[in-house]
Amino acid sequence: MIEASKLTEEFGSLVFNDKVMRERLPKDIYKAVHKTIEKGTHLELEVANCVAATMKEWAVENGATHFTHWFQPMTGLTAEKHDSFISPTDDGRVIMEFSGKELVKGEPDASSFPSGGLRATFEARGYTAWDPSSPAFIKDGSLYIPTAFCSYGGEALDKKTPLLRSMEALSYEAVKLLHLLGYEDVNRVNTTIGSEQEYFLIDKDYYKKRKDLLFTGRTLIGAPATKGQEMEDHYFGVIKPKVSAYMHDLDEELWKLGIPAKTKHNEVAPSQHELAPVFETANIAVDHNQLTMEVMKKVADKHNYACLLHEKPFEGINGSGKHNNWSVCTDTGINLLDPGKNPGENTPFLVFLMAVIAAVDEYAPILRLSVASAGNDHRLGGNEAPPAIISIFVGDELAEVLKAVEEGSAYQSAGKVQMAMGATVLPHFTKDNTDRNRTSPFAFTGNKFEFRMPGSSVSVANANIVLNTAVAEEVAKLYEKLAPFKGEELKAKIAEVLKETLAAHKRVLFNGNGYTDEWVEEAAKRGLPNLKSLPDAMPYWISDESVELFTKHGIFTKEEIHSRYEILLENYSKSVHIESLTMQEMVRKDLTEGIVAYEKDLGKEAMQKKSLLGENAALLEISLLKKLDDASFEMSKALEKLAEDTTIAEEKTDALETAAYYQSIVLADMNELRKYADQAEALIPDKYLSYPTYGQMLFSL
Ligand code: ADP
Ligand code: MG
Repeated sequence: MIEASKLTEEFGSLVFNDKVMRERLPKDIYKAVHKTIEKGTHLELEVANCVAATMKEWAVENGATHFTHWFQPMTGLTAEKHDSFISPTDDGRVIMEFSGKELVKGEPDASSFPSGGLRATFEARGYTAWDPSSPAFIKDGSLYIPTAFCSYGGEALDKKTPLLRSMEALSYEAVKLLHLLGYEDVNRVNTTIGSEQEYFLIDKDYYKKRKDLLFTGRTLIGAPATKGQEMEDHYFGVIKPKVSAYMHDLDEELWKLGIPAKTKHNEVAPSQHELAPVFETANIAVDHNQLTMEVMKKVADKHNYACLLHEKPFEGINGSGKHNNWSVCTDTGINLLDPGKNPGENTPFLVFLMAVIAAVDEYAPILRLSVASAGNDHRLGGNEAPPAIISIFVGDELAEVLKAVEEGSAYQSAGKVQMAMGATVLPHFTKDNTDRNRTSPFAFTGNKFEFRMPGSSVSVANANIVLNTAVAEEVAKLYEKLAPFKGEELKAKIAEVLKETLAAHKRVLFNGNGYTDEWVEEAAKRGLPNLKSLPDAMPYWISDESVELFTKHGIFTKEEIHSRYEILLENYSKSVHIESLTMQEMVRKDLTEGIVAYEKDLGKEAMQKKSLLGENAALLEISLLKKLDDASFEMSKALEKLAEDTTIAEEKTDALETAAYYQSIVLADMNELRKYADQAEALIPDKYLSYPTYGQMLFSL
């Protein structure tokens, strides 16, 4: 337990952070590491040796006996393999050692990680390379070293490498443009991310009794409880003491790891919660989010909870997302998405805002893809989540600013509006310049954009790789158009280019309610894509436009793009396949067992009543029996169809065709089966079921 007064000392106590480095490394070594972090310069072996020795000393003092290279393969999870620091001596003892070579490079066998055909299994070698820009930390007695992961041929097999490449690409293009605009002191821009993580907590004993949650992370059957989220009584509601104890423990674990957990609250659905950190540099924020998810599960286990991170664990109530708050900041401290007091005059802001608008419009299908997964497809387009159509909300003030850009007129800020609450004792403050719009997938929120489509379970790396690269491309295009001009000419040209870019992309701007059918129609009229599922969107990933974008900026090679295509599709098909098999088994065994047992009792009861009271007796029992029989009859037909179609899917070979089949046929079969399974389940008392119901899972904490 961290005492409140000790928090500032305890924060990051398990992290080999800048402070520790400054204290423990010789000055020249510390400087060399910093140069590598900031400028990406090559790290000499002697520097690495010194850092490694210091790291080991610090780690051992803090209880670590092992080290591991920690990386993020294409499974979307993290991977680790631990080696101890021990090294035997001639006289039968051991000493603790850790060399620069071990710090800088690892050689895990890569053959069992997804590579999408990038390497044959006999070319098993893979490399992990230290990412000095994300600090090492201690967890469970091991020193964790964040690393990038690549194949023997140097192709990225992970999410960190392309993320780092995309941050550099954006920085490179942005700096060029900023220099042109007169900001010559800027050397680098940094992408910043704050990802709000939603999750569910349920009783661990319940969790263990449900094969669907265990194997797939979501419930595949389950009649709704008689209460859902309609009372809107959970959102920001009082946090129950047991849950509060969990959140407290979670915060502490995260703080020790240097993760700036900031906000916690109950979310809309029953048993749903959220944790938001303070934003950080993109690659650290992504590492920290991966760690946060892991720690959430670990701490849940201690509290006898299961933490569900799936995007749609329960039908009929909200799913979970991970809002990706994103901005770009110069090394001189300017947030390029901060409109400032006078946005109409703020050229860097207007130029970058326009680049974001153009990027989101131009690359909407790829952005949609960056958040596609079997799980998230259930959430996007549901009423609680932004639709699969990508549009941008800019709010009233920016809408006015953009109007002025369009008309070539001068924008006059209305200034801050004083809030009037009608009671003089209440404090006086000014209103924000924009209201919130919770229905927009991509919303301007004051000094950053909030991309709301990412799912709760996956790494936010993908979304940010695409976002950074697309914006880098649009910044580059703006630069090309402006570069030949100087002085007054440049000023005039900027106005012209902004106007022209806005005209080309303003179809993506939408300030209204994104959840309505009218918007779906309107978006279709505007020509905005509505890609409802991963297989729908996947072809865009390997389109010429996508290959051009990613290869031009050095984010992916063509081979890496294709490998990711294969991996994503395969992953999707495998997920739905496991869901289908699990559902079949639960219906065939668990639910059927309950149905049969209850039918037997109902039948026995009805026969007895009839023999005692005559033919007209046992109306209720007979009517229930009949309903149950009807539902199970349909259920049995639907079960057979699902089994047959799943067998057909298993035989398919083309990756896209297979995934599309799983999406259009197998998932539809599952929905059909679920309808009847839930009808049957709704009739059966809880005690006949070997697994817990929605009511028990969602309202028991
Ligand atoms: P809300 O979504 O409720 O408006 P906040 O305004 O508190 O919440 O911000 C949500 C997240 O956005 C937090 O994680 C916060 O750190 C992050 N954030 C704030 N400013 C930036 C920024 N410049 N870049 C990236 N993320 C930011
Ligand atoms: Mg938010």
